[in-house]
Amino acid sequence: PGTLYIVPTPIGNLGDMTERAIKTLADVAAIAAEDTRHTRKLMQHYGIQNDVFALHEHNETQRADAVIERLQQGDSLALVSDAGTPLINDPGYVLVQRCRQHGLKVVALPGACAVTVALSAAGLPTDRFAFEGFLPSKPQQRRAKLEALKTEPRTVVVYESPHRILHTLADMNAVLGTERQLVLARELTKQFETYLNGSAAELLQILTDDSNQQRGEMVLLISPLQQETEASDGPGEAAKRTLLLLLEDLP
Ligand code: SAM
Repeated sequence: PGTLYIVPTPIGNLGDMTERAIKTLADVAAIAAEDTRHTRKLMQHYGIQNDVFALHEHNETQRADAVIERLQQGDSLALVSDAGTPLINDPGYVLVQRCRQHGLKVVALPGACAVTVALSAAGLPTDRFAFEGFLPSKPQQRRAKLEALKTEPRTVVVYESPHRILHTLADMNAVLGTERQLVLARELTKQFETYLNGSAAELLQILTDDSNQQRGEMVLLISPLQQETEASDGPGEAAKRTLLLLLEDLP
């Protein structure tokens, strides 16, 4: 049988396609794409010629059977989404799960993914993190989700959209308050790549003052709930310890 290759594509910078990704897309028998027109344009850019067929959230379940049949017949295939890593808030899970059930080989190539790009540069703890995809679009459900994240001891990463960012920040301000630091990572790998950090209230201020900061693609990160000894020995103690440490370095 053939192999299913999961192939990441750039999230905004065309230089972020790996050699192996290009070779794989050229070598497989055909490419399953979230949006065939979008993928054909990308292929044209890299000079790749191959068959492309659609596999998106609306036909994935039905197409999966045909893909599996093809793999069983010996064809290797590639799966791509519009941007970044397939399956990460993109189609592909149903197909991969079925391939595994049928004992078919699935090989994932490393590549661009907004979650890991944002995490690597945000300056928040990375030893462990929780990825929540997009927060619910309905205000009540969104706030309930934020309530549930209030005591989260890991860095939380969410995808956000420009037309919802102000609402989300307002909700975060209401639910998480000013203690939690946020990082808004915008337009990653692109010309206007920006990292903004501050409390929800501070970010809200920056974005209302400059509407350009509301544009484009964005990832929002929430700092983990600090689980230091601050609660037991009072907020002043932690500050004193920090001061003492800083004093040690003074001449
Ligand atoms: N599969 C993609 C990945 O690997 O990152 C994610 C697809 S998801 C449908 C699209 C969302 O990812 C955007 O709304 C945004 O939140 C985030 N995203 C994608 N590209 C981005 C970029 N260049 N900068 C910031 N966020 C990005």
